[in-house]
Amino acid sequence: MTTVDRADVLVVGGGPAGAATSYWLAKAGHRVVTVERKTFPRDKTCGDGLTPRAVKQLSDMGLYDALLPYHRYSGLRAIAHGVTLELNWPQHPDYPDHGFVVRRRDLDQLVFQHAGEAGAELHEGTEAIAPIVDGGLVTGAVVKDKATGETRDVHARYVVIADGANSRFGRALGTARNKAFPQGMAIRTYYESPLHDEPWIESCLDVRDRNGNSLPGYGWIFPVGNGTINVGIGLLSTFRDWREVNTSHLMKEWAATAPDYWKIDPENPCQPPTGGRIPMAGSVNPKVGPTWAVVGDAGGSVNPFNGEGIDYAYETGKMVAELLSESLLSGDGMALQQYPKLLEAEYGLYFKVARLFAKVIGQPVLMRELTRVGIRSRSLMDWVLRIMANLLQPDEVGPAEAAYAMAAAIVKRVPDPLP
Ligand SMILES: Cc1cc2nc3c(=O)[nH]c(=O)nc-3n(C[C@H](O)[C@H](O)[C@H](O)COP(=O)(O)OP(=O)(O)OC[C@H]3O[C@@H](n4cnc5c(N)ncnc54)[C@H](O)[C@@H]3O)c2cc1C
Repeated sequence: MTTVDRADVLVVGGGPAGAATSYWLAKAGHRVVTVERKTFPRDKTCGDGLTPRAVKQLSDMGLYDALLPYHRYSGLRAIAHGVTLELNWPQHPDYPDHGFVVRRRDLDQLVFQHAGEAGAELHEGTEAIAPIVDGGLVTGAVVKDKATGETRDVHARYVVIADGANSRFGRALGTARNKAFPQGMAIRTYYESPLHDEPWIESCLDVRDRNGNSLPGYGWIFPVGNGTINVGIGLLSTFRDWREVNTSHLMKEWAATAPDYWKIDPENPCQPPTGGRIPMAGSVNPKVGPTWAVVGDAGGSVNPFNGEGIDYAYETGKMVAELLSESLLSGDGMALQQYPKLLEAEYGLYFKVARLFAKVIGQPVLMRELTRVGIRSRSLMDWVLRIMANLLQPDEVGPAEAAYAMAAAIVKRVPDPLP
């Protein structure tokens, strides 16, 4: 580590949440040091899907043109019970009507480097191994150069924890996941396919094994545009027997039964499948301490409706950067303490309904009924897509809240399968 050992803000983690936090803070003129334990380009297990919300965040960071070489798509192809519906992303005053699929080894490097260009001091191959606590306040971290094994102290007025789903650094500061909240589990790999540049991402809502038996979870196929497609399957912890589910088995069956037109060779993925856990709905708390805050997966910020986490990592990173900027300028930490309130205002109701929805779809019989009815109505599915991707228009939020309240009332009557 060379220049700054005493920064305004130390950011732990250089994924979407850490890179966005670093970019916005550096752009506002603050001294930011960002440590990332891996060296870019690095892979990250993901579906690689960017929704219009994520595209907006990237555009706001000045990266829209950098997305253009990657695969642009128009919407979602939903499949269930033998019915296929192609649903365009909606027209919206704030969000574009398209998304992109970008492999994370490219996407994360792009945003990380962009933060560096904005003035953040970046250290790859550098792991934050322990917080520095002084007079009860977190004032930095001991960081380790992975190549040399050397450690040193980085002091900062504030520390942002963006170290992903496992969040060891966050746990060291006392964060914990509320186990009553849903958690996702997903696995994916890549296959070569002649349809690698299809204009739709595809989601299958009733996956079956080779013998026609229903399987838990939702399969996806996201065209990457480079000769390959990202094929994966995920399920929620609200499914009763989720601990017993073997995701490698799910992946094998999903690849073997995926629609023929993709023409994949299920026995020959481009790389072995890898999986991961997905903490959701703001399930990790506390989100903030006197001199620190958690963003992205470290705060469990993934949308339970669709497993989307990249956008929420960018959004929470930006939120914390703005609050910290205010705190740094005013010289006290009051602004930062508004973070939980802001999160509640932005996502509170939405995540609450999403949690109820997760409970319902955790019951296979109800899920089957819902998808059987839903997939037969284009207008209903258009709404579902907009709600699941959090793309309602401002004037639709009122009616949506009423629908949420109704859904909440219905869900309360549903017997709770959880202990
Ligand atoms: C199988 C699967 C499929 C998914 N598909 C999608 C999808 O299609 N679209 C979508 O939007 N979301 C998807 N997600 C969710 C998405 O991957 C995450 O929500 C997103 O990566 C969160 O970003 P983050 O920056 O919070 O965490 P991460 O991307 O995990 O980044 C954390 C970074 O911190 C670094 N780090 C960790 N500890 C330290 C330390 N102590 N010191 C320094 N660095 C550290 C890590 O190396 C990593 O680079 C999927 C997740 C899974 C598991």
